[in-house]
Amino acid sequence: MNITYSVVVPVYDEVESLPELYRRVKKVMEKSGEPWELILVDDGSTDGSTEQIGEIARKDRHVRPVIFARNFGHQIAITAGWDYARGKAVVILDADLQDPPEVILDLVQKWKEGYEVVYAVRAEREGESWFKKITASIFYRVIFRITDVRIPLDTGDFRLMDRKVVDVLKQMPERHRFPRGMSAWVGFRQIGVNYKRAARYGGATKYPFRKMLRLALNAITSFSYFPLQVATFFGFFSAGLAILAIPIVVYLRMAGIPQFTGQATTLIAVLFLGGVQLISLGILGEYVGRLYDEAKGRPLYVVRKGPEDS
Ligand code: UDP
Ligand code: MG
Repeated sequence: MNITYSVVVPVYDEVESLPELYRRVKKVMEKSGEPWELILVDDGSTDGSTEQIGEIARKDRHVRPVIFARNFGHQIAITAGWDYARGKAVVILDADLQDPPEVILDLVQKWKEGYEVVYAVRAEREGESWFKKITASIFYRVIFRITDVRIPLDTGDFRLMDRKVVDVLKQMPERHRFPRGMSAWVGFRQIGVNYKRAARYGGATKYPFRKMLRLALNAITSFSYFPLQVATFFGFFSAGLAILAIPIVVYLRMAGIPQFTGQATTLIAVLFLGGVQLISLGILGEYVGRLYDEAKGRPLYVVRKGPEDS
């Protein structure tokens, strides 16, 4: 068994896109002229995608299904794909055809030139709401600013990675994962390829605002201590303010100028500081909660049916 390309696709309720996805991936991979496999990771679909994946896999030996026991989330599905992939190069692709499979050939070309991570950069986006575009744009820029890893801008999970890179990623057991950050973290020779992100082929996005926020929190907490440092900054700021204010208030009082006599100032100060403290506590909680999750050491995902199970 000498597979060159493993195409990993996380699938969550994508019945409408699956047949077309399979058709296009197959066409592109046959064009490459090298042995390939398509790993469809079913992330707890409930719309019939699971059965459809089974059907495609029965007809074509290139297709290897991994069926999760429930919905574990996009990032975990990608991780399972890494675990099952046998290829010399592993490509991650969305099931909704927003990442055109034809671009894989461009990624492959760069890989053949010697790059170990070839990520696809969304030069243009089609058919997405302005809200999604704006939040995504802010998201990428905030992450870039505050994390220690240089995660490329406007880049999703669509990328090709060499076997060497995937083997390193498989040794990163973190639970709250941000695959594109992890793949930037490893280093190696990396390069971007521009592409036009298409509109969804069918169905609706599986990323409501709540999930996007979760992903952003995971990205930030996985790759930065910045939020923790914000508390320190506010501490110094409030303490500094108090130190400046004390002599001023004492002077005004001694000079007999009635100032700061009301309760309002006290109330504002108490509310402000109380708020800052609670927010800091919450931030700390985010990190502690993640620490607790890691300490439990549960498996990242549960597979109901792997590619070799009948
Ligand atoms: N997905 C998944 N599990 C989830 C949510 C999404 O496997 O819990 C898959 C989904 O089927 C798709 C990919 O992740 O293949 C990206 O999701 P989506 O297209 O909904 O995200 P968007 O492109 O809107 O950001
Ligand atoms: Mg999509």
